[in-house]
Amino acid sequence: MDTIVLKFGGSSVASNERLDMAAEKIIDLYDKNNNIVVIVSAQGKTTDKLIRESEELSRDPSDRELDVLLSAGEQISIAKLSMLLNEKGYPAISLTGWQSGIFTNNTNQNAIIENIDTTRINKELEERKIVVIAGFQGFNENLDITTLGRGGSDTTAIAIAAALKAKNCYIFSDVEGVYTADPNIIKSAKKIPALSYEEMLALSSEGAKVLHNRSVEIGEKFKIPIITKSTFNKEAGSVVSDVIEENTIKSIVKKDISRISIIGNGIIRNTTALKKVISEIEKNKLEMLNLNVSETKISIDFKNMVSDEILEKIHSVL
Ligand code: ADP
Ligand code: ASP
Ligand code: MG
Repeated sequence: MDTIVLKFGGSSVASNERLDMAAEKIIDLYDKNNNIVVIVSAQGKTTDKLIRESEELSRDPSDRELDVLLSAGEQISIAKLSMLLNEKGYPAISLTGWQSGIFTNNTNQNAIIENIDTTRINKELEERKIVVIAGFQGFNENLDITTLGRGGSDTTAIAIAAALKAKNCYIFSDVEGVYTADPNIIKSAKKIPALSYEEMLALSSEGAKVLHNRSVEIGEKFKIPIITKSTFNKEAGSVVSDVIEENTIKSIVKKDISRISIIGNGIIRNTTALKKVISEIEKNKLEMLNLNVSETKISIDFKNMVSDEILEKIHSVL
């Protein structure tokens, strides 16, 4: 019996109607005698809403409590999907990150999966259950909840697929696959039938949301074919695998990055200033993309937009 992992993103589980479409895809593969593991994200824009709500309560919410809050979104989805599958006569069981054995490091809001103990998942699969797992969350050495960074459910899915040695991993979303550009912005964008892990990693790292970049790294490392497809139709998707085509242009992507530059003659030799800046960046858990140092300038590019508050903090340590 093959094991297949399916992941449904936020827009794919945003309403009861959409949950129903997801359930039908799951049932179809289950009825073909596969072991089925499903990963789900929080419904619609739930995670954004939870972040906003935390900001209303506190200017600087505790990282630990923020992860407890954010992980709640996925917990709602697993329960709802499992109930619906049960209602349709299928034996589904929901599992949170820790129930699924997803052990991470201690970096709240951007945790890295270190190990997955699949004992519980395998036990449920042996009983022919459809295992529905909360994406985006794990637990750390203190048995506290951690989350994997925005878009992290893709990473849960592919890491689980790797741990279970799954045949493949389907990533279902609101687009039919990976396109030559973001199809929600560029109407003439075309679907790409196949691309290599390397190409997908470059695209994800440069801002194409369709797959979380860490998920592609894991897919490549463990050679898990990733198939991105639409939840809302049966069109063929895009396959990400180790098949490499030479001399092709696959896609174009725009990224709005933030850059902070510190300017002053001889800055290249001012290691104290550089250390202070790096320490401030680490304290504020900012993800750096690039750091450039020249005679008169240190320039740092960040993955996400950096607030004026951060600029003020860096200004004050210098
Ligand atoms: P989900 O909520 O299912 O995880 P995401 O919103 O994270 O889905 O990712 C899907 C989105 O990625 C699409 O709606 C699309 O706007 C965006 N996207 C950006 N670049 C691309 C691309 N090259 N191909 C497909 N989708 C892209
Ligand atoms: N719910 C999380 C987010 O919105 C994780 C995910 O959707 O992959 O970022
Ligand atoms: Mg996503």
